[in-house]
Amino acid sequence: MSITVGGAPPEHAYVNSSYLHAVQQAGGVPVLLPPQLSGASLSRLLRGLDGLVLTGGGDVDPALFGEAPHPKLYGVAPSRDTVETTSVRVALDRRLPILAICRGVQVLNVALGGTLYQDVGSDPGTSLRHSQDGPRDQPSHKIAIEPASRLAETLGADEIEVNSMHHQAVKQLGTGLRAVAWAPDQLVEGLELTDASRFVLGVQWHPEELVAESEPARRLFTALVSHARV
Ligand code: MN
Repeated sequence: MSITVGGAPPEHAYVNSSYLHAVQQAGGVPVLLPPQLSGASLSRLLRGLDGLVLTGGGDVDPALFGEAPHPKLYGVAPSRDTVETTSVRVALDRRLPILAICRGVQVLNVALGGTLYQDVGSDPGTSLRHSQDGPRDQPSHKIAIEPASRLAETLGADEIEVNSMHHQAVKQLGTGLRAVAWAPDQLVEGLELTDASRFVLGVQWHPEELVAESEPARRLFTALVSHARV
């Protein structure tokens, strides 16, 4: 006999395995930071890390940058926002390398005082499709990368084709960040710290889905791991 209990589905803590494969292929050992961690547990776990990957996911709570929620906002998880913004601050204080991916670049920007376009189709309004219809491991639009940037140096290119699975994007830059990559519609697709001595890169696309085919995608993870070793 089974008993069905109504109400909300159980909470989960998971990450797509493509991130875990990409980090391991680059020689790193991935460890998950569940959003349910208490402040004390998070501090202990962060002390053992050599680098930080901020992964994709739902939207950042717009209250963190002083805005009311847009009707198309989805997947807001305040506990995840807290764990990730705290992790950014600790990683920056400890000068750990950071690779921030998709939602991650948005978290990095907001943690440093920046703002987001809550839905790029409405604001700024773009005709370029950033929520691609094709498979996650297929590129769908170009980006141009500032040649004199750590991102371009890391990718080994100043123009690449990327996948695109986001409905939000960086608007005003957070303190100490500069935009270094753009889609053809001028939306920001890459960020880094203005302090060129630091390895802190944010990308709006999903390199973890492209590592099988794309040398620039592999280079992001190998660079992260080599900076984590120092
Ligand atoms: Mn895009």
